[in-house]
Amino acid sequence: MDDISCNLLVIGAGPGGYACAIRAGQLGIDTIVVDAQKPGGTCLNVGCIPSKALIHAAEQFETIVRAASAKNDLGIHASPPTLDLARTIAWKDDIVRRLNTGVAGLLKKAGARLITGRARFADGKTVEVETPAGVQTIHAETVVIASGSEPAALPFLPFEGRVISSTEALALTEIPQKLVIVGAGYIGLELGTALCKLGADVTVVEIEPRILPQYDAELSEPVAKRLRALGVTVLTGAKAKGLAADGAALAIETANGQPTTLAADKILVTVGRKPATRGFRLELLDLDMDGQFIRIDDHCRTSMRGVYAIGDVTGEPMLAHRAIAQGEMVAEIVAGKKRAWDKTCIPAICFTDPEIVTAGLSPDEAKAAGLDIKTDFFPFRANGRALSLDREDGFIRVVSRSDNHVLLGIQGVGAGISELSAAFSLAIEMSARLEDVGGTIFAHPTQSEAFHEAALKSLGHAIHI
Ligand code: FAD
Repeated sequence: MDDISCNLLVIGAGPGGYACAIRAGQLGIDTIVVDAQKPGGTCLNVGCIPSKALIHAAEQFETIVRAASAKNDLGIHASPPTLDLARTIAWKDDIVRRLNTGVAGLLKKAGARLITGRARFADGKTVEVETPAGVQTIHAETVVIASGSEPAALPFLPFEGRVISSTEALALTEIPQKLVIVGAGYIGLELGTALCKLGADVTVVEIEPRILPQYDAELSEPVAKRLRALGVTVLTGAKAKGLAADGAALAIETANGQPTTLAADKILVTVGRKPATRGFRLELLDLDMDGQFIRIDDHCRTSMRGVYAIGDVTGEPMLAHRAIAQGEMVAEIVAGKKRAWDKTCIPAICFTDPEIVTAGLSPDEAKAAGLDIKTDFFPFRANGRALSLDREDGFIRVVSRSDNHVLLGIQGVGAGISELSAAFSLAIEMSARLEDVGGTIFAHPTQSEAFHEAALKSLGHAIHI
């Protein structure tokens, strides 16, 4: 195969890599993006999109299950539903397939070339790609590493047999009767809740004293309460120790130090994700690292001139929208535009039931930063829309500076509130004050009114509470 060259070579066509390649193509940069898998990365193939499809299907199923039981106040009666899991998975796979095709089409439209194959570095400007047709050598002026991340395994509980990662959990052929989840972070709880609603008997083992330890207790408590209502067993302060001797159970040590076992058809390990930095001769470049991650500056430059890194491989928060924003920025920098990372907040959503949305600083983070703050919240039990949705759990909380009321953080927990993340991040990015939110008309009846009312409450004059 003849060598080829380009201005910009992107390794990885996940959200970071494909966004970078599309923007670069739009800007007229001769761009190649390489991926060993179908375009879309973790997010599209085995992450954000398929997990949300499964969560949606599970919610629909559970609504009918509730209608078929006495636990339904809406006056709707239904027969107990049955699940054709193969059909559910096929529906989810079709969404993924359509988006794979969509991303490939967007790259083509922008003029970026997509090459399928595994890339490995030969040097900082040369990459060899193992394509089905042979090794393709690519020379590039600039390289962007967007290789993403992969599930982290526990050394004493490797992924094999009944021990699975989120990837396998999204492609189950049957719902496990007994599912044990190790790690109560957002991925474990999103999938655990969905699989519980689809019929699995779920137990969650978490080493920390409470679930979702990355969120504050006020935010995680409504989720913990709902897990209890759904029948999920949560063992906090408990340590997974490995497979039990018979291989059919998880050995754990409970919070009070007692060894015990939990029978499991599947053990889903969701203890975090690690950057994908191995197996493609990245070590040849001898880049400065930040722990396991590639160290970058506010232009996403690595320690080697002409080599950038974006997305999960560069650290927390490992979120698709951060990767996309970095990808777009790097493409513009390569095109000669004056850009730097200047975001005030990166919103995050936990698609549990209820959902958690955060943007900016929590009260504790703001205090730890030495800021003098005021904080208040508005509960969904006083919000007409939440009541009409039969879900009054949760609240919206605002954190602002005491002196000028500029919003520093907005958090919420409530059923289906993920779409409010846009209002939260827009308000913070535009340095809105409590008065700006209080002075804006929010349509009635919507859950977003709880944001308006939280701002008014913080100013001392809420209307609906
Ligand atoms: P990735 O998406 O990981 O893409 C990297 C790509 O690089 C991969 O396609 C890989 O094949 C390719 N690659 C790596 N090395 C090579 C090589 N040597 N040669 C060729 N190709 C290579 N984030 C959210 O924001 N919202 C969510 O709701 C959400 N839900 C999630 C649910 C689950 C179950 C999981 C696992 C993750 C979820 N995430 C979510 C995280 C999100 O998927 C990642 O943050 C995002 O995909 C990171 O994008 P990226 O471009 O950095 O890397």
